[in-house]
Amino acid sequence: MKMPKKIKCINMQTPIMKLENLSKELGSEIYIKRDDFTGIEFSGNKVRKLEYVLKDALDQGADTLITCGGIQSNHARATAALAAKLGMKCYLVLRGDENERIEGNRFLSLLLGAQIKFISKEDYGENRDEIMNKLAKNLETEGLKPYIIPEGASNGLGNFGYLNAGFEIMEQEKEMGVEFDLIVTAVGSGSTYGGLFLADKIKKGVSRAVGFNVCNDAPTFVKRIDGYLKDTFKILEEQIDYSTDEIKIIDGYVGNGYGLSRNEEIEFIKKFAKMEGIILDPVYTGKSMYGFYNEFKKGTFKGKKKILFIHTGGLYGIFSKSDLFKF
Ligand SMILES: *Cc1c(COP(=O)(O)O)cnc(C)c1O
Repeated sequence: MKMPKKIKCINMQTPIMKLENLSKELGSEIYIKRDDFTGIEFSGNKVRKLEYVLKDALDQGADTLITCGGIQSNHARATAALAAKLGMKCYLVLRGDENERIEGNRFLSLLLGAQIKFISKEDYGENRDEIMNKLAKNLETEGLKPYIIPEGASNGLGNFGYLNAGFEIMEQEKEMGVEFDLIVTAVGSGSTYGGLFLADKIKKGVSRAVGFNVCNDAPTFVKRIDGYLKDTFKILEEQIDYSTDEIKIIDGYVGNGYGLSRNEEIEFIKKFAKMEGIILDPVYTGKSMYGFYNEFKKGTFKGKKKILFIHTGGLYGIFSKSDLFKF
């Protein structure tokens, strides 16, 4: 196997903690991996992928990063932070309304020195790659060397972030003397799931990963994840056999749509915060933990005694939603 090189930004194994009160309520051992601890400025799951993607950018001689996301994109903010750290310029193409209050991730991205270009929802859906390519061309005429990172840093190379995190989890299982039966994550662009899936397929032959999609639908993500995995095999120079039936994405928790909250999700985030002293975000971890909780109660995970949930971060996004919380 040919593992690509990465730059090192996260200086630790992120901790795994037991959720004592949730475990009591559900009657199984539920643990959480705190990937919201990966950093402060680049907190969350995206930095694990960016460690690989930015190594490639630097190897190609890039001095400018271009990426895209929603107005409260965690990925955009993490990219802005790493660009600043590496002395690179950063351009963010964000979907949304420029006139909204400047807060949360958008505020932090500006503070970290990123240039933000806003585009409409329609343009984001249909033309974002074209818009980023055009921006790159313009920057090239100014003498810059831009590098385009896809949405969520999800591609064949981005998969390595959570392939590596999957191996890290296996080391921690050895140290802790536990073995998880199930590993749960939110799915927004697909490579967090893809990496965790692949780590298990390589080391164990079977995957324990189950994902809850927070946008689109399960078949769309199965296809996308399958595509990224094929690209990962080219980099690995090795093929790992699997069937797409093994890619387990549970649909039904998108709710009102990407980035939009329902009251039951807000109430669940409040319940969880009070129960465990841990904040979930409304866009990803709130929806996926809510989905996991409901599916667990329905009996979907019968026989799974030890379960690991990945806290993929997103704390800063909650501030733009504080009006939805009633106390
Ligand atoms: C991007 C993101 C996810 C989803 O990860 P993908 O690899 O894009 O599927 C989950 N949680 C948070 C907080 C995120 O920012």
